Amino acid sequence: GLPQVVIIGRPNVGKSTLFNRLVGKRIALVDDQPGVTRDRRMGKVDMLGMHFEAVDTAGWEDDEPDSLPGRMRKQTEISLQGADVALFVFDSRAGITPLDEEIGRWLRGQNVPVVLLANKAEGSAGNDGINESYALGFGEPVAFSAEHGEGVVDLFQALRTFL
Ligand code: GDP
Ligand code: MG
Repeated sequence: GLPQVVIIGRPNVGKSTLFNRLVGKRIALVDDQPGVTRDRRMGKVDMLGMHFEAVDTAGWEDDEPDSLPGRMRKQTEISLQGADVALFVFDSRAGITPLDEEIGRWLRGQNVPVVLLANKAEGSAGNDGINESYALGFGEPVAFSAEHGEGVVDLFQALRTFL
């Protein structure tokens, strides 16, 4: 089947906005409130000569505090099975949070290549967050704006290595 790109990150970083941007339809629910993506959502991406299936996840969006090591990971782990690339999204305006670091540590233990995506990087408001993100250990992030559609060419270039 099609190669799979799984979108991962803490709540509110713009995963669903990114998913909709790539798929070209408003399939995923976008909201300021964390936790609106209840299920996995999948959609075909056909852009710039690339064909893959994008998966929007909500595994880390469960707001039950005691579920962090349990259900959240399980959901995301299920989504990662069969994934060709994990697209690890952070909010470059908010900077790197402890939850971003935790997801990064967890991802490192998974057997899947990671592309780091600095979302909300329109203008220069994301520059500090982008600099901070090198500490996650995934190299240079792709500067992106899901809302404004900036960085798509760079993203596809980064994905092409693995697809
Ligand atoms: P998710 O929880 O990771 O799926 O995040 P959502 O896609 O639901 O987006 C959370 C919030 O961030 C919404 O208010 C979006 O409009 C906003 N957002 C998403 N992408 C961008 C972006 O590129 N720039 C800015 N400034 N806001 C964004
Ligand atoms: Mg979402």
